[in-house]
Amino acid sequence: MARLVVVQYPNPILKQQTKEITVFDERLKVLISDMFETMKANAGLGLAGPQVGVLEKIFVLKYKRKKMVIINPVIDVFSEKKEIGEEGCLSIPNRQVYVKRSVSVEMTAQNENGKVIKIKEKALMARILQHEFDHLNGVLILDREVPSYELDGL
Ligand SMILES: [Zn+2]
Repeated sequence: MARLVVVQYPNPILKQQTKEITVFDERLKVLISDMFETMKANAGLGLAGPQVGVLEKIFVLKYKRKKMVIINPVIDVFSEKKEIGEEGCLSIPNRQVYVKRSVSVEMTAQNENGKVIKIKEKALMARILQHEFDHLNGVLILDREVPSYELDGL
């Protein structure tokens, strides 16, 4: 296992699109284990490929006892109900940003073996999934920052 370097904003890698993963081999397993190690070392809840310089559709997350590897995700359902919450990002240190997200999402993806998986999550897990999914499309929390006038009354 190796700890990877976390790409920092405003590195243009973070704004790029990612490619689908089609080969589920040893290289991928090593990448996944390195991503988990890197996320843990930086006390993150999630980490996406572009954040370690890999422009591929993959992210990992760990929250409480849930540890997930998400490959080639598609969000099938965003709940209409949305909620504003504070988010940080390992690529944008020392910055907390208010972001409006759906409170629940349904996702189709693949696991580390290429098996198709269906995921349905709400609350913080749904927020992490949407945050990491955004990374695969070059979207950062700064792009979604809720303007301060919308925060009145929070
Ligand atoms: Zn992030």
